[in-house]
Amino acid sequence: MATHKLTAAYGFQYRFKCEHCGQTTEWLSAMLSEEKEYQSVPLEGKELRLAAGKEFLAEFVEKKVPALREKVEAGDYTIPVELDGKCPFCKKQQSWEKVSGTGSILFAIALCVILAFVGRGIFISGAEAGNGHRQLAGLIVGISFALGGLVSVIVLILAVVKKAAIQRDMEKTTVRNKPEFNWPEIEPVKE
Ligand SMILES: [Zn+2]
Repeated sequence: MATHKLTAAYGFQYRFKCEHCGQTTEWLSAMLSEEKEYQSVPLEGKELRLAAGKEFLAEFVEKKVPALREKVEAGDYTIPVELDGKCPFCKKQQSWEKVSGTGSILFAIALCVILAFVGRGIFISGAEAGNGHRQLAGLIVGISFALGGLVSVIVLILAVVKKAAIQRDMEKTTVRNKPEFNWPEIEPVKE
């Protein structure tokens, strides 16, 4: 048995006119890519690989890429590709840029808090058992989760600060632009 990895990639370009200083950026590159791992047995490996690869690439080319284009052309940039909306001239963010969702960060914090309690629970039960090794293990787990919680809080604060800065900047201008896209003919890259 061997593990093979297949990568499909579609590169496209975009540029935008800054909503703050009015300058237009160069064409910027972005790429949609997807990986697939699969197992193959030595004898039939080549055939399996060809079949799996064909199916995977066909889905990427016929469904994933058109879906991406459709979404973006409808003005929805919540796509699995990062589009940088920071102006290279005045360094300000654009209104259309997707800012990291506070929802998912809050979820991460909630998870860390729960895990911290679980870690503390392990520590307490270890202490009750009076077992030195378990106590130590519990303490390490507890501290790890507490650190995880702390990092999440910092990430959340940074995201909130960034969002507030963007909002402040956007209040100073009424200009709302959309990025412009250049979609090349589909040419998937195989590895
Ligand atoms: Zn600018």
